[in-house]
Amino acid sequence: MTKPTTTNTGTPVESDNESLTAGTQGPILLHDHYLIEKLAQFNRERVPERIVHAKGAGAYGELVVTNDVSRYTKAKLFQPGARTESLVRFSTVAGEQGSPDTWRDPRGFAVKFYTEDGNYDLVGNNTPIFFIKDPIKFPDFIRSQKRLPGNGLRDHNMQWDFWTLRPETAHQVTWLMGDRGIPKTYRHMNGYGSHTYQWINAAGERFWVKYHFKTDQGIDYLTQADADRIAGENADYHRKDLWDAIERGDFPSWTLHVQVMPVAEAESYRFNPFDLTKVWSHKDYPLIEVGKWTLNRNPGNYFVDIEQAAFEPSNVVPGIGFSPDKMLLGRVFAYADAHRYRIGTNYAQLPPNLPRAAEVNSYSKEGAMRYFYNDASVPVYAPNSFGGPHADASQAPDGGLWEFDPTMVRAGYIQHPEDGDFTQAGTMVREVLNDEQRDRLVNNIVGHVLGGVREPVLSRVFEYWTNVDPDLGKRVEEGVRSGLEGAPTPPPSQG
Ligand code: NDP
Repeated sequence: MTKPTTTNTGTPVESDNESLTAGTQGPILLHDHYLIEKLAQFNRERVPERIVHAKGAGAYGELVVTNDVSRYTKAKLFQPGARTESLVRFSTVAGEQGSPDTWRDPRGFAVKFYTEDGNYDLVGNNTPIFFIKDPIKFPDFIRSQKRLPGNGLRDHNMQWDFWTLRPETAHQVTWLMGDRGIPKTYRHMNGYGSHTYQWINAAGERFWVKYHFKTDQGIDYLTQADADRIAGENADYHRKDLWDAIERGDFPSWTLHVQVMPVAEAESYRFNPFDLTKVWSHKDYPLIEVGKWTLNRNPGNYFVDIEQAAFEPSNVVPGIGFSPDKMLLGRVFAYADAHRYRIGTNYAQLPPNLPRAAEVNSYSKEGAMRYFYNDASVPVYAPNSFGGPHADASQAPDGGLWEFDPTMVRAGYIQHPEDGDFTQAGTMVREVLNDEQRDRLVNNIVGHVLGGVREPVLSRVFEYWTNVDPDLGKRVEEGVRSGLEGAPTPPPSQG
């Protein structure tokens, strides 16, 4: 027998189908409080969508450590044999809720580990790099990838305007326009912590570290033509693929690796190791295996488990710290702030965010939607004489320590010998891609530029790609110019 429908407070309701009216043709009565509850609840079903990474999919899983990296970190989740429950949310970046999964865009790769020392979040992407390196550019960058203020349309001219005026974007744009710019599924892409983090071992020695989750399914991609077709057929293609794979027991996995740089080597490395637009060459810092990360459980409820999931780079645990990567330091503020706005002051009490292997003994209290609270005998202030929790520096993550010149400046990054906005992008084009991949790169760039880029941005586009690689620049210019011949006059800028 099915259960009786009730109100939110458990009282059985009279009808699922008819409102209470004065006679069959009369007005609806205001005291039909169940109707009011139903309509009011419906009006409030949405929380603000994420300003970036709005469209996503996620699952639960587990990290099993298969190697011994304890000489680099004392973090409990990375000790030999450790098993840690985990949650991931994959996403596109610029599209809104409901936008097609197969648009060309980087993919978010946000992982939460429920460790014994509290939650550890690694909020990465499917790319080891990013478009910008200073958080002061983040709102500008994201707005340029979203919609024009006048007509509400996305605009390639605006995207390329920003990219070509900020040439540090070149490495990531090369990556984005290549095959990996549209992964076949979320299962067929790597994840990268992207930022440089700090690891601290039991003896207090410090290392710089970069995380790489290498897909065990193999890297695979969609061509632009296939992605465009799928976008029309099934906007949720990647979300469905992940769900279906886990439902049929085909659990996707990734092998977690790290690159480790002794702190003393950072200053003389050929690239600035804290610049998010650069990688550390595998030849200089080979990958070291850490463990196997497997997704094996779909969310019980998409909204509760995935939409309410709040990932924040500020969640670090003992043995792990931050670095002078300015983007990372900006995100340490911005993510928790976004969650407070989007899902409320007490977002850490929501099921996906609540620590699962650690106890919470915080002095936070009250605020909207408070659910958990301390026993009345626990004081609400510290220090106190009545047995309340007390901070113990020996058990806390130190956030990462490093030396710096204390003069206040707005000066960007220290330049290392091989730094340069175009260096690593050029290496990728010349040394990593094969001929077919380079051909598709040219076609993808040309197709994207022909989607509305006009002067004065257009000339800068040719210069930008020539700076990455002269031959690539020539091919892009030839392709765009021949595509423009006979093309209709583009509409005036709405920007
Ligand atoms: P390697 O030859 O050792 O590494 C090249 C790496 O490029 C590969 O390991 C792979 O990364 C990645 N790659 C392969 N095909 C593509 C593609 N179509 N699109 C994007 N990335 C691809 O050389 P280096 O480490 O010295 O790096 C050389 C260049 O490779 C860099 O300038 C950078 O552009 C690119 N790269 C480097 C990465 C790194 O962390 N060192 C990571 C990704 C790209 P993976 O093994 O992660 O799949």
